[in-house]
Amino acid sequence: MRLRDMISRRAALGGAAALLGAATLGAARAAPVATLGARRIEVASDGGFSLPLGMLARDVAPEALLAELAAAGLSTERAATVLNVTLIRDGEELTLIDCGAGGNFMPGAGKLGEALDAAGVDRAKVKRVLFTHAHPDHLWGALDSFDEAAYPEASFHIAAAERDFWLSADVLSKLPEDRHAFAAGAQRILKALGDRVQTFRPGAEVAPGVVALDTAGHTPGHVAFAVSGGGASLVVLGDALTHPALSFRRPDWATGADQDPAQAVATRKKLLDRLATDRLPFIGYHLPTPGLGRAEAKDGAWRYLPGG
Ligand SMILES: [Zn+2]
Repeated sequence: MRLRDMISRRAALGGAAALLGAATLGAARAAPVATLGARRIEVASDGGFSLPLGMLARDVAPEALLAELAAAGLSTERAATVLNVTLIRDGEELTLIDCGAGGNFMPGAGKLGEALDAAGVDRAKVKRVLFTHAHPDHLWGALDSFDEAAYPEASFHIAAAERDFWLSADVLSKLPEDRHAFAAGAQRILKALGDRVQTFRPGAEVAPGVVALDTAGHTPGHVAFAVSGGGASLVVLGDALTHPALSFRRPDWATGADQDPAQAVATRKKLLDRLATDRLPFIGYHLPTPGLGRAEAKDGAWRYLPGG
């Protein structure tokens, strides 16, 4: 595509702000957060949004929640979260892990396209998108504003258990009413992607050097991904751990978004134990950008150590 056509297309789709961003940032790349052999791991932001404090922990006394937030030096008025999309550059081959919320979920989210433009990523070069799960902030960015695949040459990969849950005839009966739009969105998008969608089971190598890990609980088919190369590994967590204080200090607290609270808690503790024991770095989709960190055992729970 010629530069003039690219600029006019960007201007048409994203308005003057996107054009200005493209002109200012040029082909700058996102900083790599890790290098695993020949694989370079980057994080591109889809933006962020606020959520009610009550979403952070369910069935927990408000005083206990406020005390934990205050102890961590966090706001006791509002909760803000961010969306960190992982990009794996394997030579010329690009893999995204999750693809943001798109334009229809929450104000403040859906910025991934701008971030990828700024990082010099041609969306037509993305070979595959791997989903940790099918919640809106991870899936809905799969379609563009014309309801076509936002990554025109990509295949889209989701755990079979996750796809089956969202496409099941009785999915609404398993969700609270305020989550019914999640099901409608997941069905619409998975159907629109059609035969570009491929399913896998935990344990499968879903891309070169990328293995799916069973982390069910947040949703029935939630997975994390272990990315390896050059003798090192890093885990892309999705929403198995979402909060820099609560997920580590109080892994026994289910979040308002955990589909199966008991399973989510058990998964979180098992995962934290492994991450801390094996000193594995990880990227959390909702941890402070870029979401890279490690876990350390502390006082019968864990502590989040930001950075590699
Ligand atoms: Zn999420």
